[in-house]
Order: sequence, then C-alpha cells, then structure tokens
Amino acid sequence: MSRAGENREKLSSYRKRSTLRVMHLIPTNDEVIQMLRDTAALRHGHFAYPNGMHADEYVQVAVAFRHYQHAKILSVGLSRRLRADSEIRAMIKELSIVCPTTGVPIAYGICEALRAKQVYWAEQDNESGPLHFKQFIEPEKGEKVLLVDDILRSGKRLSELRSLVESFGAEVVGLAVAIYQPNPTIRSFGHLPVFQLAQMDAVYYKDSDSCDLCRKGVPVEKISF
Ligand SMILES: [Zn+2]
Repeated sequence: MSRAGENREKLSSYRKRSTLRVMHLIPTNDEVIQMLRDTAALRHGHFAYPNGMHADEYVQVAVAFRHYQHAKILSVGLSRRLRADSEIRAMIKELSIVCPTTGVPIAYGICEALRAKQVYWAEQDNESGPLHFKQFIEPEKGEKVLLVDDILRSGKRLSELRSLVESFGAEVVGLAVAIYQPNPTIRSFGHLPVFQLAQMDAVYYKDSDSCDLCRKGVPVEKISF
C-alpha cells in the first residue's frame, strides 16, 4: 500500500476509534448544547408557543436526530445515566420503554443500549386528541415502565402518558429525557425520578403582554408541535 493509502487508513481507523470513545462516555451539558447548536436543533430568537408563552430559544430535538451518530450519542449517554441508578439497573430485564411518538428514536436507542425488555409508544389521532396505544398493544398489570421522550418542557404529554400507562395497572418507575427545559407550567411528577442528559434554561414570558422581545419589536416565530 502507498504511503498516502496507509495514512488514509490510519486516519479512518482513528476516526472510528474516537467516535466509539465518545459514544462510551456521557456527554457533558455543554457538549449536548453544542451538538444541538451545530445541528440547528437549538435556535435563538423570539418564539410563541401554542400555550401562549413566549421564549428566547427553541429546541427541536428531532432536527439533531436526523443524524444517526448524534441520535446514538444522545441515547447511549442517557442510557448510561439510567444504568448508573441501582434501582433501574436491578429491573432492566423486565423494563418496558414507553414513549409518545416524539420519543421513538431515543426510546429504541435506550432500549438497545440498556438491553431492556421492549419498546412501544402511544399516539394521537390529531394534535388535541388523547394519547392511546394501537390495537393489541397494552401494558400489563404490574409491568415496570420507564417513560421516555426527547424533551421535557411542561410535562403535559408525559403526564398524560403516565395516566394512560397507570390506567392499565402498570407501574411507572421513572422518566428519561434527552433535554430537560422546564417552563413555568411544568407538571409535578411527585416521587418519580427524572433522568436527563442536559438541562437548558430558556427565558419564558407568560404571554405577549409581558414579553420583553415583543416590546422590543423582535419578529416572532410561531411554534407548532
Ligand atoms: Zn414575545
């Protein structure tokens, strides 16, 4: 092999090793935020949420998840955080990973990395419709369930999912989200542990009247989930 060929091969094998090394670590808060910024999943500006609140930043995690490598780093990182918890670790083999459709990619990534029992999801027929499972899919009584989603803001969807899962008699043991970005309307999950990879604090205004950005005349972008 030529010298140039040898060098190319060395470089490519180094890249493979360094990617693997990154994937076996838990990325720091700053690294996760940098990844969201690099992939344009994190946007700064002036945003109006469907619940009427205004904020100075918006994260659409699905934008980062277009790239398999990024999805892998986030879900493997989160699964390592879960595995570090002795109670979760003790129940991995019987653990179901349950999510709304927005959480499907990260749920599969976590299930694969943890070697949990199974993954399934709840969906909505339309944006305001209730969450439900597809026909022939339902939690069993006493089943141990970890709720997963890409991001937690108000917790509305995960709170609804928790009620749905518990209505079958299953036991929700915790929540896991890649990004924790609580807004002022966040629901309480009581004693349930919330596992996260990164926390972000946006500046929220409860409506346009109290919004500094509206007052400054910054153009507003409407968010539709
Ligand atoms: Zn505003």
